Amino acid sequence: MHELSLACSLIEEAEKVLTVENAARATRVTVGIGKLSGIEIGAFEFAFPMAASGTRLADAELVINDLPITVRCRACEKESSPEFPRCTCTHCESDDVELVNGREFNIQSMEIE
Ligand SMILES: [Zn+2]
Repeated sequence: MHELSLACSLIEEAEKVLTVENAARATRVTVGIGKLSGIEIGAFEFAFPMAASGTRLADAELVINDLPITVRCRACEKESSPEFPRCTCTHCESDDVELVNGREFNIQSMEIE
């Protein structure tokens, strides 16, 4: 499962932070997942406890921020958030847009002890 390996690399990342912070465990971890990241949130939620088992994140509460797509339009220079799976400017309907946000997959914050 794709999401399991992603969860494992996320846990690895979090463990590094815990080591740097000299923390015993994480109580909550907030993960940002962009709509265009290709990650299925349900599958990720399912994979996370498996990946976290035996680590300092084993009891951590997982909070997922489902991040919207943000594009910047080259035609009208405005930013907008089209509804997935559309990826066009909502102001002028141009598809000449630059992706600003939507591919994120990262730890946004973590509560540690
Ligand atoms: Zn536009």
